[in-house]
Amino acid sequence: MPAAGEPRLGGPMAGPVKTEAVVLRSMRYGEADRILHVYTPHRGRISAIAKGVRRTRSRFGGRLEPFFRLRMDLHEGRGELLTVTGAQTVDAYPRLRGDARALDSAARACDAVGRLFETGEPHPGVFNLLCRHLGLLDEQVSGTGGPAGQPAATDGEPPDLPSTGSSASGRAGALAFRLKLLLAAGLAPQLGACAGCGEREHLVGFSGSAGGVVCGACEAASFPLEEEAYNFMTEALGRPLTEIPAAPGPALGQVERAISETLEHHAHLRLMSATARA
Ligand SMILES: [Zn+2]
Repeated sequence: MPAAGEPRLGGPMAGPVKTEAVVLRSMRYGEADRILHVYTPHRGRISAIAKGVRRTRSRFGGRLEPFFRLRMDLHEGRGELLTVTGAQTVDAYPRLRGDARALDSAARACDAVGRLFETGEPHPGVFNLLCRHLGLLDEQVSGTGGPAGQPAATDGEPPDLPSTGSSASGRAGALAFRLKLLLAAGLAPQLGACAGCGEREHLVGFSGSAGGVVCGACEAASFPLEEEAYNFMTEALGRPLTEIPAAPGPALGQVERAISETLEHHAHLRLMSATARA
């Protein structure tokens, strides 16, 4: 901690900071404090300390919990940690908190964002994507899974979501979200032609090291990619997050493997599996 009265070195970056943020992680610190990882539109991932937040009369209430979307006031000093001075709720996503599957999906989504975008580099699109995904998880927890007034599904995936029938908390929803994160990170797999030689026909496999689909001649170090998996990836990357493509389980397994191998080769990163059952 810098001594009081020492000059700041941070120049224009030091001082008060106002930003929207989603809480990715919230960890106990000391007797009454919390350390937060939050994701912001214009400053990427920030770490901040909230002092006295665990006292019952804290002015922050329960707002500094994971997945809250907040309007935050922070103070930036010379250290790595900013200090939280105020927080207003933009969206608490209250319904997802009562649903184990949605809660698990939200945790995996926040973990992926925090690890793939761990610096202060601004990615407003990633912030919006995360808010949209949390919003969908929240909307789809209501017992109906679909728009208000629609009958409840008896089991499995809700039947009447817009266009395809896959829910945001299912494996297809989680993988569509991850593909969009890859795109935002500049790691979108090459799908239009062989990543090894540019051939446009006879694309038979996926190679994480080559960075995309590969043809029969370049298939070393690749694994077979079925057409359904290929179509899922192109559709998920080309459509809004609300329109989650559908694909059978084995194809989704190939999509997840393609995402994992791309991240391992190009970002040296291993994420948690996209869903608990995978
Ligand atoms: Zn090739």
